[in-house]
Amino acid sequence: MQVLKFGGTSVGSAERMQALVKLVANPHPKIVVLSAMSGTTNALVEIANALYNKEPGKANELIKKLEEKYLTEVAKLYKAEVSLNKGKQLINYHFDYLRSFTLDMFTSNEEKAILAQGELLSTALFHFYLEEIGVKSVLLPSLNFMRIDENEEPDLTYIENNLQLELAKNQEANLFITQGYICRNAFGEIDNLKRGGSDYTASLIGAAIRAEEVQIWTDIDGMHNNDPRVVNKTHPIHELSFDEAAELAYFGAKILHPTCILPAQKRNIPVRLLNTMQPQAKGTIITSSNHNTGIKAVAAKDGITAINIKSGRMLLAYGFLRSVFEVFERHKTPIDMITTSEVAVSLTIDNATNLPAIIKELEAFGNVEIDKDQAIICIVGDFSGEKKGYANKVFDALKEIPIRMISYGGSAHNISVLVNGDQKKDALIALNKGIFNYN
Ligand code: ADP
Ligand code: ASP
Ligand code: MG
Repeated sequence: MQVLKFGGTSVGSAERMQALVKLVANPHPKIVVLSAMSGTTNALVEIANALYNKEPGKANELIKKLEEKYLTEVAKLYKAEVSLNKGKQLINYHFDYLRSFTLDMFTSNEEKAILAQGELLSTALFHFYLEEIGVKSVLLPSLNFMRIDENEEPDLTYIENNLQLELAKNQEANLFITQGYICRNAFGEIDNLKRGGSDYTASLIGAAIRAEEVQIWTDIDGMHNNDPRVVNKTHPIHELSFDEAAELAYFGAKILHPTCILPAQKRNIPVRLLNTMQPQAKGTIITSSNHNTGIKAVAAKDGITAINIKSGRMLLAYGFLRSVFEVFERHKTPIDMITTSEVAVSLTIDNATNLPAIIKELEAFGNVEIDKDQAIICIVGDFSGEKKGYANKVFDALKEIPIRMISYGGSAHNISVLVNGDQKKDALIALNKGIFNYN
């Protein structure tokens, strides 16, 4: 069994949905994971914000605008009157549900339910389309099997057991369609795997069913050597190891959800990145083996906060770092980069929600300084063989960029540097020139 995930642009219009048929309508057994049509989740976020700010008029307007888009697309998607009516009824049902919140109370639970509507719509509309053209498929409700636990981590045993139950209901079927991104939480409420989470759904399903391969179909021909939204010239990388892909995803390569590689890696399931607009393109294959060494790609993650703790007490003190780490553990805040000197430690966090409480506790150790709006530039490759020259190449390329922190040696495939957020673009351009010879 394969898992094929199609992102927002791949299901973004009637035309795009129709084009998917040639990729999914073959006898090979598969689970197809769909995102919401492009722009939908952003629109749902806006609707939820309007409701949260007690602006029902604005929310209604936004709901109407989004509904019109869906009505236009279904009119193009279906030929038969019956399917068109089914599509319209579905749209009616979901948009009436959204409108019900303009009259009722609104809490964060309802916000999650609102965000779930996009994937519920796209999967049902596609399923009806397959039905219209005579391609048999089964709609799998991901809310029946996809679950996160109290720590917001996927509960793989639950997912595995409940997905098997759903699949067993349709033993004859070879084409299943399900929603990416959405799940239930430990309390059974509707929740989600965070923005971009459909990739994560696909990888979790792949791990749960021990799929032969997970394919992530998107609007670009694989993982590129640099961020194509920032620099002009980039090229696809045909092979990556799980570790390299995980670093790139975590440090900002938007093509993959930050944690999507881990479930596939755990069960050694290859992940292939492919382009729906160019299905013949080779894309990227991500596996446990690594054939090429050297620097392969760079990525950047912004909105990073750097924290510096200067402490006389650190001098020769064992247990100091443990005490510092415990503060972050108590506040469930992961640390990305860390550097130490004899009298100070600098570290970075991505999620600054609990920053005030963290600072308060850290001040017990010494003087604490904060730099907001920093960016981590991550240089990824396989540096395990020939260890000479990589760092030199990176720092030579970045010689004009002020660097705040450096991390090298934590693993054999990552060099990270911290720069001011407004230097991110220049740093990526400089690396594209210095490492990949693009002007
Ligand atoms: P989808 O909606 O299919 O999930 P995304 O927009 O989440 O697609 O991811 C694909 C986009 O990721 C590409 O259009 C590209 O602009 C962006 N991207 C950022 N960094 C990279 C990279 N290193 N390689 C490929 N794409 C990247
Ligand atoms: N629709 C969700 C989002 O836009 C999930 C996804 O596309 O992966 O974030
Ligand atoms: Mg995505």
